Amino acid sequence: MIKFLDLQAINEQYRAGIDQSIRRVLDSGWYILGQENEAFCQHFAEYCGVPYAVGVANGLDALRLIIQAYEWDAGDEIIVPANTYIASILAISQNGCTPVLVEPDIQTYTLDPHKVEAHITSRTKAIMVVHLYGQVVDMEPIWALAEKYDLKIIEDGAQAHGAFYQGRRVGNLGDAAGFSFYPGKNLGCLGDGGAITTGDGALYQKLKALANYGSHKKYENIFKGHNSRLDEIQAAILDVKLKGLDADNQRRREIAAYYLTAIDNPHITLPTVRDEHGHVWHVFVIRTDHRDALMDHMNRHNIQTLIHYPIPPHKQGAYQEWNHLSFPITEDIHHTVLSLPISPVMRQADVVRVADVVNHFSLQKSVAVGMAM
Ligand SMILES: *Cc1c(COP(=O)(O)O)cnc(C)c1O
Repeated sequence: MIKFLDLQAINEQYRAGIDQSIRRVLDSGWYILGQENEAFCQHFAEYCGVPYAVGVANGLDALRLIIQAYEWDAGDEIIVPANTYIASILAISQNGCTPVLVEPDIQTYTLDPHKVEAHITSRTKAIMVVHLYGQVVDMEPIWALAEKYDLKIIEDGAQAHGAFYQGRRVGNLGDAAGFSFYPGKNLGCLGDGGAITTGDGALYQKLKALANYGSHKKYENIFKGHNSRLDEIQAAILDVKLKGLDADNQRRREIAAYYLTAIDNPHITLPTVRDEHGHVWHVFVIRTDHRDALMDHMNRHNIQTLIHYPIPPHKQGAYQEWNHLSFPITEDIHHTVLSLPISPVMRQADVVRVADVVNHFSLQKSVAVGMAM
């Protein structure tokens, strides 16, 4: 069986360092907001190329806290891609702001900057760029719009740790960025975790307080804050894994490069890459009009595939007020996408086999490919 993602094997690469970290935290007797959190946040900020990072409990909180910190009024608008993972949108509506959904580019699956301007109103406060599937949004036109209309740029970097654009890393492409360290992300811990990066010192101070009961000083609460902190044990583990992130992303790039040259099937549309060096391939997403048949075919050859994502946010029960709306590009994406296995620990023989099995997919009765597994 070729698994979609083998988390055990990914973490096994870091076994010695993780074991040591867990023991160190256990022995320290200090489990929340200590030196592990401080060290990791400093290293992650440096890695992203910004002065500040705040550890938080998860990626959704990272985005929610950023929006809360700006103190926009109820009904103020934030532009967000219609095909994102629902967390980006929840972060906006849970703050009382209005998510304004904009169609993505069908080729790259990321926000189409040319469609953004038409959605800017007097109430627009920010553009949330989501570097979906590991590919950085085309930022030049977004920077120009933010400047022209005096908008903040919030990055959702949950799928793009280490990705870069014009030499700058995700986390350093807007006013503030939210990251998730959910186990399956490119940089994942052994549970939930998240971080916010920013270059804005005042925002950083406020976010640190907001994530800790609105408090800078124990038992003095100046904001209506949250309990959203990155545990010492997770911070220590992340600090170990951060050192391997570039190598892990490079392996993902090599696998993607192989798929992009080896996969050749008229039923399949490969992803369009804007910059092969900057992309970190959180997932490798192809499109096909015959998704069920292709998934079946892959399953029969013992290859696990997943759909990111089967239902667009505006068709979810959580957003019934939007269910009547139509976003044809987004809907097309959700009906046709399929993610192939990609991970830093995937063996080359398995990579070759995945491409081979995809190439043998046809609408006729499918034939066995190669040797039985
Ligand atoms: C995973 C993810 C999030 C949320 O992160 P959690 O840690 O699960 O809360 C937000 N946005 C995107 C695009 C994600 O993929």
